[in-house]
Amino acid sequence: MGRIQLKQVQKKFGDVEVIPPLDLEIEDGEFVVFVGPSGCGKSTLLRLIAGLEDTSSGIIEIDGADATALPPARRGLAMVFQSYALYPHMSVRKNIAFPMKMAKMPIEEQNRRIESAAKALNLTDYLDRRPGQLSGGQRQRVAIGRAIVREPAAFLFDEPLSNLDAALRVGMRMEISELHKKLETTMIYVTHDQVEAMTMADKIVVLQAGVIEQVGSPLELYRAPRNKFVASFIGSPK
Ligand code: ADP
Ligand code: MG
Repeated sequence: MGRIQLKQVQKKFGDVEVIPPLDLEIEDGEFVVFVGPSGCGKSTLLRLIAGLEDTSSGIIEIDGADATALPPARRGLAMVFQSYALYPHMSVRKNIAFPMKMAKMPIEEQNRRIESAAKALNLTDYLDRRPGQLSGGQRQRVAIGRAIVREPAAFLFDEPLSNLDAALRVGMRMEISELHKKLETTMIYVTHDQVEAMTMADKIVVLQAGVIEQVGSPLELYRAPRNKFVASFIGSPK
């Protein structure tokens, strides 16, 4: 499960309306990319879904239930932070186990989930290392592992690869796409990178100044951009 619906969701910071009321539907299992220039509201929209920001008005439903007032921990979603959010003094195993330990999950179940996440992310041989002994790509995989073990209804990524060098970014992009195929779980992925959007998304949401300019598959946006902004941003010839 991982169906997310935004109904007339609006966000103001003080008097400034950063996101005018918008509607958005995300289907279970979809890979959705929020794309747009810096400052257009991508992170704010993701944080509203995660519950890290309160909506100024509107409703957020997760799997049909009103989640607007739920704290982040009760939404069943997992935010994947950049790899530097790992605990440097803890092993990979302990980093991945951390959310389960906080939830006081039985050790056997913790271990089962760690093994399963490590297998999915090719980290089995690295569980006893510390983050400082890993490559950038491996560290990013650990950060994802820490989200996987919570078995969330959806994964939320906010520019997870922006710290990595160009070559590594390409590899990680493919790994995240592969992981999506394996898990078949909803993923919402924020980026300002058109190439990431076009290569990873089932559905792209193009944002400009907090407004959704267009929603569609990469091919739909490429073939039929609704306006000049979408066309130039997506790199369509139109
Ligand atoms: P993006 O992730 O697309 O770069 P953000 O969602 O971070 O954009 O920001 C959208 C707008 O909201 C920007 O104008 C930013 O300055 C503003 N903003 C974001 N967070 C806050 C905040 N906590 N207080 C005030 N303004 C904010
Ligand atoms: Mg941002």
